[in-house]
Amino acid sequence: MGEASGSAGLIGEPGVVELRNLSVAVLGATGAVGQRICDMLRDHPWFEVTTLTGGASAGKRYGEAVNWLLPTTVPEKLRDAVVEPSVPGSVEADLVFSALPSGVARKVELMFAEAGLPVVSNASAFRMEKDVPLVVPEVNPDHTRLLEAQRRGRGWRGFIATDPNCSTINLVLALKPLHDILDIRKVMVTTMQAVSGAGYPGLPSLDIMGNVIPYIGGEEEKMETEPLKILGTLEDGAIKDAAFALAASCNRVPVIDGHMEAIYLEAGGRIDLDEVKEAFKTFKGGAQGLRLPTSPDDPIILRDEEDRPQTRLDRLAGSVPGMSVSVGRVRHGVDRSSLRFVALGHNTIRGAAGGTISLAELLVAEGRV
Ligand code: NAP
Repeated sequence: MGEASGSAGLIGEPGVVELRNLSVAVLGATGAVGQRICDMLRDHPWFEVTTLTGGASAGKRYGEAVNWLLPTTVPEKLRDAVVEPSVPGSVEADLVFSALPSGVARKVELMFAEAGLPVVSNASAFRMEKDVPLVVPEVNPDHTRLLEAQRRGRGWRGFIATDPNCSTINLVLALKPLHDILDIRKVMVTTMQAVSGAGYPGLPSLDIMGNVIPYIGGEEEKMETEPLKILGTLEDGAIKDAAFALAASCNRVPVIDGHMEAIYLEAGGRIDLDEVKEAFKTFKGGAQGLRLPTSPDDPIILRDEEDRPQTRLDRLAGSVPGMSVSVGRVRHGVDRSSLRFVALGHNTIRGAAGGTISLAELLVAEGRV
């Protein structure tokens, strides 16, 4: 372990030792999310990637195994690293990021947690288990306290903490400031999701080019359950779900990165549009005071133009590029107690790699790693 233990809430405070050099392993490092994690960690002040794992690519040099999708080059110091098999015996690290397919994650993450390693996961395998925190640092940082019950209950020295589905993150970040001021009764969300959300190589080009596919397997179920857990409250060691009705319609559209969502909500009582806009503009979120390296200054960016946000123009918004959700087209729905708006976030940054990195930073700041 590095020097990080026991430093909760003190990062950036004068006189506090800077947290540095925790070694990290990236499981599934060759995939769309694994690549983003490696890219975002190339100059990270606390985390250094020391182990990369994969499946079929194990044994190859990372630079040869990976089909690098990003508009950057493979980090120089990782180019010649040998991709290891995704088993605990191959990994020596203080912290593990998992970007494995869910079915694989269910077995592999468990082995790592049992072996004493902290696992921060992008996969859906454990998200909805009662003792597993599902956390967006700006929304529900207190839910990391579930880890205490998890370790006790399962007898693990390590743990599993998760970040949500890439569409869920946009939705909950946009809903959080509204949930704080409105009595939300019903939410309906329609997504327009990028192809990179399906990983690499993802959908065949002939299926998606010039097309919209009104179905993404398992996505609506995730979007209709995860937000209620995240916006829920931690009471007596368990999460009590938020109590509003939620319906999602998920569509795959031919854009590379960036999930756009059209959101409609109904509240008990009249909604003041100025109050809503102010809530979006001033939202900082629970973890902002910790000044975590990957947290953007403004988790939500409100656009006033009638035609923004747009996927191509706004997916990299934020002081940490791609970590802010852009919100716009704020207006009433069928009456004054309903509201419509759109929210856009980068699915492999805010919705995956950046989400787990900022969650890991929170866990380090709390002294849990
Ligand atoms: P991906 O591009 O398909 O990458 C999958 C990775 O897992 C690759 O590195 C692959 O290694 C490895 N892998 C596959 N089978 C394996 C096995 N049997 N044993 C060990 N490693 C194996 O997928 P992705 O889009 O990066 O998604 C990764 C995870 O993040 C998934 O759980 C996904 O649901 C979640 N997620 C994705 C997004 C997104 O926007 N893409 C957003 C949020 C969450 P090889 O190259 O060796 O096969």
